[in-house]
Amino acid sequence: MQLKERIAAVQAKIAAAALGAGRDPKEITLCAATKVQTDDTIRAAIATGIRVCGENRVQELTAHWEAGAYAGAQVHFIGHLQTNKVKQVVGRVELIQSVDSLHLLQAIDAQAGKLGLVQDILLEVNVAGEASKGGCSIQELPDLSQSALALPHVRLRGLMAIPPVSNAPGENCAYFSAMRNLLIDITKKMSDNQGSVCCLSMGMSADYEDAIAEGATLVRVGSALFGPRPPAGSGCSMAH
Ligand SMILES: *Cc1c(COP(=O)(O)O)cnc(C)c1O
Repeated sequence: MQLKERIAAVQAKIAAAALGAGRDPKEITLCAATKVQTDDTIRAAIATGIRVCGENRVQELTAHWEAGAYAGAQVHFIGHLQTNKVKQVVGRVELIQSVDSLHLLQAIDAQAGKLGLVQDILLEVNVAGEASKGGCSIQELPDLSQSALALPHVRLRGLMAIPPVSNAPGENCAYFSAMRNLLIDITKKMSDNQGSVCCLSMGMSADYEDAIAEGATLVRVGSALFGPRPPAGSGCSMAH
């Protein structure tokens, strides 16, 4: 299958999953996870209807940005972000999806303040409590979300999660539904003037349809759009 056909197939499955869950397909944003892809592939994906690109490495983001490869699309940052690289990301991306500590929140707020802007962010939750993964713990989330809401130069838009790799349909549904409840908990504690915190970023190639059934508003899809990536360990490992 060509890129164009794969994109159309994923878009059709997203729409079907939404309708199957009684939801409007327009509620769901497809974020193309573009790690290891070339400038030309990113341009081709955007020419074929991709409107959001998700990058998980600062180095790749910077290179594609400087090449102008993202013209016509938004860019989201979806990978682990070190505080010393915040300068290369804040103001350049519409949404930083992977904020998981107070330290990082404060660094983003400070940089956004310097630039005179407000940076949209999601808090990443390590919903399965995996030692190998980024994300704050479920226990840390209430305090972290209060901090995010209080900082003047970040705008909390919702939550993101990367549950374990799923090998069978339905496997991650409990994690997806837990994420949905965590988002509801946050919104319940908010006052009316604290903006709209409604983005739920979850679901990847193997399980985005399940994620949509459980309330995802943004799915991050890589290999189902671009084909398989080189295996981890071959020099292009999935950084996380
Ligand atoms: C690579 C990546 C994805 C997409 O993974 P696929 O399984 O290829 O769809 C989603 N989210 C993050 C954070 C990623 O790094």
